[in-house]
Amino acid sequence: MQKPLTCLRSGIDCVLRLFESHAMVSETPSESKAKTILIVDDMPANLGVLTSHLERQGYMAVVAQGGEEGIERARFVRPDLILLDVMMPGLDGFETCRQLKATPATRDIPVVFMTGLTDTSDKLTGFAVGGVDYVTKPLDGAEVLARIDTHLTLYGLRQRLEEQNEKMQAEIVARRETEAALLRSNTELEQLAYVASHDMQEPLRMVASYLQIVAQRYKGQLDADADEFIGYAVDGAKRMQALINDLLAYSRVGTKARPFEPIDCNRVLDIALGNLTVAIAESGANVTRGPLPVLMGDPSQLLQLFQNLVSNAIKFKRGASVTVRISAELAGDAWRLSVSDDGIGIAEEYFDRIFVLFQRLHGRGEYPGTGIGLAICKKIVERHGGEISVQSKVGVGSTFSFTIPRRG
Ligand code: ADP
Repeated sequence: MQKPLTCLRSGIDCVLRLFESHAMVSETPSESKAKTILIVDDMPANLGVLTSHLERQGYMAVVAQGGEEGIERARFVRPDLILLDVMMPGLDGFETCRQLKATPATRDIPVVFMTGLTDTSDKLTGFAVGGVDYVTKPLDGAEVLARIDTHLTLYGLRQRLEEQNEKMQAEIVARRETEAALLRSNTELEQLAYVASHDMQEPLRMVASYLQIVAQRYKGQLDADADEFIGYAVDGAKRMQALINDLLAYSRVGTKARPFEPIDCNRVLDIALGNLTVAIAESGANVTRGPLPVLMGDPSQLLQLFQNLVSNAIKFKRGASVTVRISAELAGDAWRLSVSDDGIGIAEEYFDRIFVLFQRLHGRGEYPGTGIGLAICKKIVERHGGEISVQSKVGVGSTFSFTIPRRG
């Protein structure tokens, strides 16, 4: 196919304009130095002038004299940008671009059209087939460089963004896998703790009861040391029983969870206080309560939660008696329930630690316990989608609060 006359003329103009404008172009090349530009044009004069112009600016220029050759070079060289003539015999610029964009290897390379056309619809076609920009013939050297520079920068930024995105996606996948593995191992550990403590209960019960029989039957018949030692052994066995029972309760939060149902917390508190009747009477506790809400929850776990918190409030009293208050209030999308006491209080530095398994602030001699109660509370509250925290002042008292989301 013969090239139209106007195009031939514009090729020569292009050469002239490039030489004219070269003096105005900054000699300090942009950061896109040593980038490869593929120039696709069927006019050898254009190719020669453009090539040397770009090379003087520090670019590597690769040329192709038609659409097919351009596609082949692009696949082979993988240039950073393609300057593509629109009017070419054989495969024209638009079709060449279409094919470049349809191939994964060349799809992302920015294409800048070189066009002598002034018709807007042709420019729009250029964008429609995947071009990022166009320069109009006769070419202006400074403009060509500015556009190349802009699109190389944009392309570089896009590539960096894509790389970062890929890296982030890989990190998300890795984190999800770690979380799943952690969940699996947590569940396994929980089951192990459950089975171990459950199976230990029976032999331990045997040890404890026979030790008690020995203590009762042979008290005073052996020497004083023997009575003392048997006493220690009975005490140790009882402590071990308490520990195993609490550990069992802890692992049951995950392994023996029941589906949520509407729970009237007033009713649950009645049962908890009923279970604590002796402790309340012995400690001279004055328990007051406000109205409590109906919540979606696991009934036996909520009972345990109330019971642990109230029993701690009674246990860690300061003087001869203690005042305990149970109340509830709305906090945004959740209910906040609180158990307050005027007991010994807790120093702020221990606010987080006390919710960790086996963490106690007092010796067994001062206050009995296993250090598991609050860890159970935390696990229960978290299973219900809430949070537990404490506010306290030493010598004044403590308030343990937990939230439970209100569900439709
Ligand atoms: P335990 O009661 O068996 O020691 P918990 O896990 O229930 O274990 O509590 C952990 C620690 O938190 C307790 O040993 C105690 O030091 C502190 N604590 C818990 N509740 C209160 C409270 N109401 N007042 C003061 N200290 C408390």
